[in-house]
Amino acid sequence: MPVVSDVAVVLRRIEYSETSQVLGLFTRGHGQARVIAKGAKRSTRSRFSPGIDLLEEGQVSFSMRTDRSEGLSTLTEWKQTRSFGGLREKLERLAAGQYVAETTLMMTVEGDAHALLYDALTSALQSLCDGAAVLETTTGYQRALLESAGAWPRLDACVVCGRGSGLTYFSSLEGGMVCRDCEGVRVEKRVVAGPTLEMLRRLECGGDAGSSGGEEVLVRMFDVLDYHIAHLAGREATSASMLVPSGRRRVT
Ligand SMILES: [Zn+2]
Repeated sequence: MPVVSDVAVVLRRIEYSETSQVLGLFTRGHGQARVIAKGAKRSTRSRFSPGIDLLEEGQVSFSMRTDRSEGLSTLTEWKQTRSFGGLREKLERLAAGQYVAETTLMMTVEGDAHALLYDALTSALQSLCDGAAVLETTTGYQRALLESAGAWPRLDACVVCGRGSGLTYFSSLEGGMVCRDCEGVRVEKRVVAGPTLEMLRRLECGGDAGSSGGEEVLVRMFDVLDYHIAHLAGREATSASMLVPSGRRRVT
């Protein structure tokens, strides 16, 4: 098995035995990688100094499986380069960090590299550490994630008839907004109010989504994008409700 070297962020960590951990990594050059870190929990003589924690970045070497069968690659080296320690200073930052980690695992596959998404991920984690607004940073990452998957929705016109007015519904299955005249037969859909749509369009243009509309509209924008991600991935991100309580979500 070839040994590859890369940079990676730890997105998931499972205690595997007395001494080992199974890690879900997102690498810059090789996409998602599931590795076993044998001896990672032994405090002395560990090759993985100073231990491996969630949501930190490091230089990594691992033996890559080439057969794509079930199983784990073996981590041979880990050297932490950034701890993103600021995430742990506030609960909402940590929740956002966990959300971006979970959705990255949901929306990417092993061995499929997305260097730009990797850069967006580390940039989002760094921004959260530096005290950037949490929901703005998270929705910015949702956009990067959906664009990386080729699934950013159409917002300027109805995906069915192409009309630019009367856009009231969002359909994940159709890949964007649906107008009042076309929504009748679409089973999978949800209402998106005007201010939320406006803010989504601003996010699409790279503008500051949080500069107007207020916190409630920001929550709704997060919710629409989270709904789309959950639909595409086939499951909900459990950490979403840590970031925004479920009582405030799935509303129009
Ligand atoms: Zn239409």
